[in-house]
Amino acid sequence: MDNEISVDLLCLSCHAQLRGEPGRTYQSGDKVKCDACGALNDYDRVIEAAQQEVARQIRERAGGEMNISFEKDPGK
Ligand SMILES: [Zn+2]
Repeated sequence: MDNEISVDLLCLSCHAQLRGEPGRTYQSGDKVKCDACGALNDYDRVIEAAQQEVARQIRERAGGEMNISFEKDPGK
């Protein structure tokens, strides 16, 4: 199977992989600390970046023909 897409959550400052604190569940509004540079990443923005990466990978596989959007408010 080659249908899986996995992306890491990356630090917005140094792009190191974010692991978060063991056993902790993050949710909207939380800050995720980067092990590498110590930056506090806004969880929502980290997820947003991961979603864009997923969309990029899907587009790549589809040959650039797909238009994928994660907009929360499509009316804008
Ligand atoms: Zn970092």
